[in-house]
Amino acid sequence: MKKSTVKILQIVVEVIMLALFIVLFISKRIQLWMILFGGSVLLTTLFGRFYCGWICPIRTVQRPLTWLKKKLHLPSRPGPSFLRRTAVRWGVLAVFVLLLIMVQVRGRQLPVLPALLVLGLLTALIFSESLWHRWLCPYGTILSLPARLSRRHLTIRQEKCISCGQCAKVCPAMAVDVTRPTESEGQKNQKKRTYQISRANCLLCLDCQRVCPTDTIKYDPHHKSDKA
Ligand code: SF4
Ligand code: SF4
Repeated sequence: MKKSTVKILQIVVEVIMLALFIVLFISKRIQLWMILFGGSVLLTTLFGRFYCGWICPIRTVQRPLTWLKKKLHLPSRPGPSFLRRTAVRWGVLAVFVLLLIMVQVRGRQLPVLPALLVLGLLTALIFSESLWHRWLCPYGTILSLPARLSRRHLTIRQEKCISCGQCAKVCPAMAVDVTRPTESEGQKNQKKRTYQISRANCLLCLDCQRVCPTDTIKYDPHHKSDKA
């Protein structure tokens, strides 16, 4: 399928899912969204984090905001370093799970999902989207677990990669890891930097595939040598 067709398809799916989210919220049945999320968690073991890149309403509203910030030349800061820690990621998830348990035990209806949407939007407004996707989003943290086992994921075929770094530059989740050659390696083989996609952190948004000049990023079956 052509990249432009996939992009249109992706936008259509995102808009439909956002509309569904709004309808469920207005009709006070937002908890039904969790069925969709639960199904996505299971399917992530096969296809990767498609929920994040195609379904999540938070990402759908963040995307035009990031685009607008770029157009207006507004800065996209990575966020304070104390937030960009693994402990924060798991801490946020723990608080989120506790909150959900409390809501269930007390039988109350708290707008957890809409509140996260507003928080995600604010995070992307003040900082770069990656702070949210990589460290703050509890749904993303949950999905990063089955994603480590996903049967298919985006892979950079190293033989055609020219180390231009475009993929890492556009990635909204900092999911492209860069390995720099050591000084001796660099002198011996003129070895270039190696770019690899982390299947645990990749949102399957396909932004990297769209900008890659050598078309070397493919949605491949998992091989043992691939990055987790
Ligand atoms: S690696 Fe590519 S598909 Fe995955 S989140 Fe980054 S830009 Fe999107
Ligand atoms: S954009 Fe493509 S060619 Fe450039 S570093 Fe990424 S995978 Fe390699």
